[in-house]
Amino acid sequence: MDITKLFETEKTVFSFEVFPPKKESGIDTIYQTLEQLTDLKPDFISVTYGAGGSGVANANTIDLCNHIKNHLGIETIAHLSCLYNTKESVDEILDRLKAYGIENILALRGDVNPDYETMHDFSYASDLTAYIMSKQMNFHVSGACYPEVHQEAPDMRTDIMNLKHKVEAGADHLISQLFFDNHAFYDFLEKVRIAGIDVPIEAGIMPVTNKKQIERMVSMCGASIPAKLSKVLQRFGDNPLAMRDAGISYAVNQIVDLVANGVDGIHIYTMNDPYVAKKITESVSSIVTAGK
Ligand code: FAD
Repeated sequence: MDITKLFETEKTVFSFEVFPPKKESGIDTIYQTLEQLTDLKPDFISVTYGAGGSGVANANTIDLCNHIKNHLGIETIAHLSCLYNTKESVDEILDRLKAYGIENILALRGDVNPDYETMHDFSYASDLTAYIMSKQMNFHVSGACYPEVHQEAPDMRTDIMNLKHKVEAGADHLISQLFFDNHAFYDFLEKVRIAGIDVPIEAGIMPVTNKKQIERMVSMCGASIPAKLSKVLQRFGDNPLAMRDAGISYAVNQIVDLVANGVDGIHIYTMNDPYVAKKITESVSSIVTAGK
């Protein structure tokens, strides 16, 4: 199914993201996690693709997408990054996705990983997007976007112009980087729409359930921490249970505000934690299914 069809209903699209285990030993756990996430009836589950190389995790991306779509009956998006792929390796991946009936790809550039040598067939996600479209294999391509500007972009205007180029290359659905301040997302959305980008944009929500993990994430992606969240981290950061519950509440509050403001969709970075995904879903299910 073409993911963009989901945005044609009155409901707010509600989706999850998981990552494949880095070692074979984690495989059983991810299958259990996916069963639990399926019970929550998301509109789709996307599966990330490792940065660099063609290791276990990347082979598992396709296998997990196959499992989600063909065994669990949930729509899926396979992430695919291009800095470490050649046209030939992308061709092989596209053939495998096609063989499993997987129709949706989140085309990414990927982050630079000093452990691997970059290939030179693709420089940006828009190159990969254009390449996938040129194959005419009926894939639907999604892209990433950055409410607080991608860390390598010189400014918001340039980043949005590059995003427009990605959409013109064929991306017809966008998922945002995580953010904790909804105003940053609303400002970005306004600028993006003025720039003439009119595809559905899902808001990426990361529940903050672990202080160290969020400090690492923020240093990698540059998301700002509003004073309200900073207080939560200071007060509950060293108490795992309190931090988890406060993080779930913070994410729920963000989602309620986003849906009330008419967001196209909510994409939860589940961090493969079905308990947190369940708590959030239970709290917002009547909200996301209420008409827009
Ligand atoms: P691009 O869209 O190519 O943008 C990268 C930078 O280049 C930006 O600064 C942009 O402004 C600039 N740029 C773009 N086009 C041009 C141009 N033509 N000329 C000059 N500058 C240009 N990473 C993974 O490795 N695996 C994953 O599964 C994964 N999933 C993700 C899911 C989401 C929703 C998001 C938001 C990110 C994800 N990432 C993932 C991280 C992503 O790979 C990094 O953020 C990466 O640094 C940028 O990828 P991109 O696809 O957004 O790149």
